[in-house]
Amino acid sequence: MLYSNYFVPTIKEIPSDAEVVSHQLMLRAGMIRKLTSGIYTFLPAGLKAIRKVENIVREEMNRSGAIEVLMPAVQPAELWQESGRWEFYGKELLRFKDRHNHDCCIGPTHEEVITDLVRKEIRSYRQLPVNFYQIQTKFRDEIRPRFGVMRCKEFIMKDAYSFDVDATGADKSYEIMYDAYTRIFRRCGLTFRAVEADSGSIGGSYSHEFMVLSDTGEDEIVNCLSCSYAANLEKAEVKAASPEPADRPPGILEEVRTPDVRTIEELTAFLSLPPDQIVKTLIFSADGNVVAALIRGDHELNEVKFKNLLGAEQIELADPRLVAEVTGAPMGFAGPVRLKAKMIADHAIRNMANFVTGANKEDFHLRNVNLERDFSVNQFADLRMIMAGDRCPRCDGELNFGRGIEVGHVFKLGTKYSKAMHAVFLDEQGGEKLFFMGCYGIGIARTVAAAIEQKHDQDGIIFPISIAPFEVCLLPLQMHEREVVDAAQKIYDACLACGVDVLMDDRDVRPGVKFKDADLLGIPLRVTVGERTLKEGMVEIKVRSERESAKVPLSEAPALIPAKIKALYDQIK
Ligand SMILES: [Zn+2]
Repeated sequence: MLYSNYFVPTIKEIPSDAEVVSHQLMLRAGMIRKLTSGIYTFLPAGLKAIRKVENIVREEMNRSGAIEVLMPAVQPAELWQESGRWEFYGKELLRFKDRHNHDCCIGPTHEEVITDLVRKEIRSYRQLPVNFYQIQTKFRDEIRPRFGVMRCKEFIMKDAYSFDVDATGADKSYEIMYDAYTRIFRRCGLTFRAVEADSGSIGGSYSHEFMVLSDTGEDEIVNCLSCSYAANLEKAEVKAASPEPADRPPGILEEVRTPDVRTIEELTAFLSLPPDQIVKTLIFSADGNVVAALIRGDHELNEVKFKNLLGAEQIELADPRLVAEVTGAPMGFAGPVRLKAKMIADHAIRNMANFVTGANKEDFHLRNVNLERDFSVNQFADLRMIMAGDRCPRCDGELNFGRGIEVGHVFKLGTKYSKAMHAVFLDEQGGEKLFFMGCYGIGIARTVAAAIEQKHDQDGIIFPISIAPFEVCLLPLQMHEREVVDAAQKIYDACLACGVDVLMDDRDVRPGVKFKDADLLGIPLRVTVGERTLKEGMVEIKVRSERESAKVPLSEAPALIPAKIKALYDQIK
């Protein structure tokens, strides 16, 4: 490609409305432009990066045995009413009426459409398993779109849906997708982890998120330095401490006056006690039922774990009225002794003795509280957030706390959709069975943005070669010098002849401008043809991610460039 025939409108200044690096660099490198809030046009270089990710995804999905289809963007409300999501899905679902007054939506996801297709087309266990995928533009009406294409309203996704005869088959399909995703993100040249995650609103029982590691990531994750365990912070398991005998005999239970002392900080200061001697009693309303969570003072309740344990649709902290009703005291003085509510305690409480709790009485706390003697709980469970110092729940190894950007997600759906939409096949005995489903997504543009978040410097993007808009940028520095232009043309022709994806910057601009734009766009290999080096019969080759450049004889450049590119691909295999 010749620059003069192409369109890369680079910008010098950092755009003021772009908060994150990938958004800034995609705008500056002329890859995207905003149409309106959360909606972007991909310019040629941005689209090329997108296409390269798509190609990798398509190749690996096909290799895994998945079959490509293309489902419509617009979907009828009836399907969403059948699955129950028309009510359940929030305002993110963009709904509208067509001219016949039919309710419709623009699909943020396609479980309903694929389930409808499969229940009509697939009748027999002999046709299973099957996995359909598509690469499609989707829409989610985000309330606050931000971070450029990372959290936008209209987005390009690869989504796949597997159908199996039973749970064992579904496990196998899940594994196949997990492996395909591992190959995809490796081929994209990214450093990533597959982390155990909460299933969220799509529903289902088990899931992994593929996270590109980056300090700027939205999600907090932990990963073990000794084994492959990695998890989203909200999902990370905390290993239950082994029971220890109490080191002190139980003291005498006593009330302490603690006027206006409500928070753990106030209480530790007032009683001169470390927070791990205190038990917090948090009163919740879970689908209308009152339930208390007991957590050690220095620990934080993980509401996702608590909610999942209760199997509740919704949990919320009790309001002052409900707290008063249950404890007989205002907020800040709840405690487990004589509390009339179901109580679930975090494992850490088991090893505590002579601790402090609220007294269920205004301005009072209790000292020397002990389990079993003074109160008992309905259940012990892992209820708290993992924190620095905790060990790996699998191997007891050291944990690393970091951040990541979610680029892919694999879910086991079970029979959630097939049951709701009565999607069945005939088994060997001729009986009707529900399909076991899985769903698997990859954010295509998000993957490009995540790559930029992970790989950039002060000069611009450092694209992995497999997803860079071009593999090589060729810079003839003096367009008015015949020899320079001729030498560059020879290299350009040689690149094209052996299938190298090359951009030749044939603009008549200062060398500094060409260097700056090449660095900004992050093209992995730069070949410079300049008057001075050419006099020595040399051209300059530089890898974007490396500091030093090398001079090579002009005559050797046509063979060296493909070899260098191959080496860059080999690095990410
Ligand atoms: Zn481990």
